[in-house]
Amino acid sequence: MNTRSSSSNRRWPKLASLLSAVFLAAAGSGCSEPGQPRPNVLLITVDTLRADRLGVYGFGLDTSPAIDRLAARGVVFERAIAGASFTSGSHASIMTSRYTREHTIGYMNGGTRLEGITTLAEIFNREGYQTAAFVGNIMLDRSIGLDRGFEVYDDELPHAELNRGFAFERIAEQTTESALRWLKHRDSRPFFLWVHYQDPHGPYTPPPEFKGRFQPEFKADEKPLPILDTVTGLNGIPSYQELDGIRRPSVYETRYAEEIAYADHWIGELLSQVDADTSGEGTIVAFTADHGESLGEADLYFSHGSTTTPDQAHVPLILRAPGLPEGHRMETVHHVDLMPTLLDLVGFEVPAGTSGIALGPIIRGASPLPDRLVYCDEGFDLSAYGPGGFVRVGDILAAWDSGETNRLPIMAPRWAAYRWQPGEAWQAVDSIDPISKKTIRSYFKQAMPMVEAQEPSEMRVERLRALGYAE
Ligand SMILES: [Zn+2]
Repeated sequence: MNTRSSSSNRRWPKLASLLSAVFLAAAGSGCSEPGQPRPNVLLITVDTLRADRLGVYGFGLDTSPAIDRLAARGVVFERAIAGASFTSGSHASIMTSRYTREHTIGYMNGGTRLEGITTLAEIFNREGYQTAAFVGNIMLDRSIGLDRGFEVYDDELPHAELNRGFAFERIAEQTTESALRWLKHRDSRPFFLWVHYQDPHGPYTPPPEFKGRFQPEFKADEKPLPILDTVTGLNGIPSYQELDGIRRPSVYETRYAEEIAYADHWIGELLSQVDADTSGEGTIVAFTADHGESLGEADLYFSHGSTTTPDQAHVPLILRAPGLPEGHRMETVHHVDLMPTLLDLVGFEVPAGTSGIALGPIIRGASPLPDRLVYCDEGFDLSAYGPGGFVRVGDILAAWDSGETNRLPIMAPRWAAYRWQPGEAWQAVDSIDPISKKTIRSYFKQAMPMVEAQEPSEMRVERLRALGYAE
């Protein structure tokens, strides 16, 4: 008896540890049904990338062979609009399916923190995905809260930018290698991986093997621009963009194209490694940019964050997923659609309170896109995009609520309407439809409390200290 019991007890620890392992795995996999196979999800965002500088969107230079290959197997949205024309606001819209005025990252790029709203990464992680993010822009530092839901949030930024020693970044080769290293050592759960590429963001400094790949085409009426001592880019070259005193805009446009080609090369490496792994249920890929860049529109040069017109608001959006018919779509879609689209494709419920629409059923023809306006919003300036055009409202600093003592005054909004098709310059039109005006007004009168960003991370402070920028 004793022997049997002892023998039986000797087996129990094994069974107990097995049960414990099963329990832990189930706990780690949150609410997902056990055994239900799920695809991986790869989200790629590129900073400051205009849709019209990619081959798939009609650009004449060979900036994007890898992105074009992805597009050839996916759905290409010709009219995709960014949440904001600055980095942290747009990425917050992607990760929460809320417009700028509905999430807590306001008009201050990196100055406020995301709070109180469920993120895409949190849902994936709760449902049993392993989650990781690799970002290259200091505006996406974990202090703004976008790290929520990521088991790994790699915001290592080893490079000081040209002209701005205080601004750090990571370039595409290093970002890709870090992401690939993580992929190689991941566990058996499906993954949600976000990789952010910083390279097209100014200053336009492609590495030597890409610099000189394209030749500037000087335009007959091209005039050298002054180098400004501000960052606005109005009628001149912003101070942070200056390249060796060069003043011809076509040189800057060419360097910008080379930065895109450089990022594209490494995006190609990432995609080929991801696709080489055939062990799971395949990988859904979503590709977009956080915002565009003005290249001379309305006399704004090599800058963003100052307007919400198509030069800064129009972004590429490509979706590749099993069962989605390939092709180009003309519906007006938005960053806020990404979260519901990805959750729906994987088979998870979309949380209440989101502002986007799952695009899968629309692409499959199961339902039409409802009539709606979508907003590119940076606080003082917003544009509401619908089919065929947009309404821009300026001077609306109002509605940002950062506490009783710091409530911003409502100014007199300036309204203007434009006709716009991708690939064309926008043209002013005389009248604004009163229903659109009412809808837009009720949107921008919303007030979302903003939460101050946390102190910069220790790593960031160390970097600043190393260069003499911090005490
Ligand atoms: Zn950005």
